[in-house]
Amino acid sequence: MSTATEAPCSSEDRRIHVFWHEGMLQHDTGKGVFDSGIDPGFLDVLDKHPENSDRIKNMLSILKRGPISPFLSWHSGRPALINELYSFHTREYINELIEADRCGGREFCSGTFLNPGSWHASLLAAGTALAAMKHILDGSGKIAYTLVRPPGHHAQPTQADGYCFLNNAGLAVQFALDTGCRKVVVVDIDVHYGNGTAEGFYRSNKVLTVSLHMNHGSWGSSHPQSGSVEEVGEEEGFGYNLNIPLPNGTGDKGYKYAMTKIVAPAVQKFEPDMVVLVVGQDSSAFDPNGRQCLTMEGYREIGKITRSLADKHSDGRLLIVQEGGYHVTYSAYCLHATLEGVLNLPHPLLTDPIAYYPEQESYSIQVIDSIEQYQKDVPILKGI
Ligand SMILES: [Zn+2]
Repeated sequence: MSTATEAPCSSEDRRIHVFWHEGMLQHDTGKGVFDSGIDPGFLDVLDKHPENSDRIKNMLSILKRGPISPFLSWHSGRPALINELYSFHTREYINELIEADRCGGREFCSGTFLNPGSWHASLLAAGTALAAMKHILDGSGKIAYTLVRPPGHHAQPTQADGYCFLNNAGLAVQFALDTGCRKVVVVDIDVHYGNGTAEGFYRSNKVLTVSLHMNHGSWGSSHPQSGSVEEVGEEEGFGYNLNIPLPNGTGDKGYKYAMTKIVAPAVQKFEPDMVVLVVGQDSSAFDPNGRQCLTMEGYREIGKITRSLADKHSDGRLLIVQEGGYHVTYSAYCLHATLEGVLNLPHPLLTDPIAYYPEQESYSIQVIDSIEQYQKDVPILKGI
């Protein structure tokens, strides 16, 4: 008689289908003072814009040549058709993007440059996310990761924001709903509020959007949402947007606490038949765009928890969509760790080369407890 406690695994349980297209490297965001595009004239060395192709090249190569590579299958992405974009975005906004491309480019809002080549890369990012979702819906694979840029989660139905033009995850979610899924949960761990995705489904009770982010508030007219706990959705969607604004310095223990204390019970009650994890490695301890303290271990844990939610609720169906993450080396390592967690591997495949920042866990935990208190009367969390 076997004493093994692990359930038998099919090969699909230990496989991630990666969707990618090299055309996305053609989005050139330029140089300047950080993400401003400005050359003040007195600096010899200007930064590459943080959302540059180098970060994605390292993510690509660590997946191709890192120790996780035997667990991955590769698939080619594709450009989205213009018609496919109207499921999430308005025609007016899409026309605005097409026109900006035709005129040679435009800065839509702070740091958000549509340059020559950017529009085609945006279409590829959107189409690649759609292709990955279709792969899961067709039953060709259970877990897919879509390596895309420009990122998408700030792009709202009517406007660009925060380096994003098209909402790649939002389009994939709407496609799932249009193709027979009843309810989709989106868990967004990018360090910034996933305001675009939240806005797209703010009046829907078919999509539970949950965002764990740095407490950065609104950042102007392109990002009017504050990401606060008060933004819980409207009309039919009341109670179906959960914001978890975490204090600066929240790290592995704080994120795990929020995932187990708030996210998992909400997903349990929602009973989704599709799980979408929106990942940004800008929640790491070394990101120039974030002030959180996640390390590879924290990302691994988030991957594990999300996988267990998918196994429990959506028959293991899980789409992972790439967003931010701007440290050129550590973002790649943290992506590797996230996917290790998603694969539920018994031991880490890579050690963390640089983690050493301390985490102020007691304050984060206090804040998460107070968020939980605030949200306890929101329908999705009532009685838990
Ligand atoms: Zn971000």
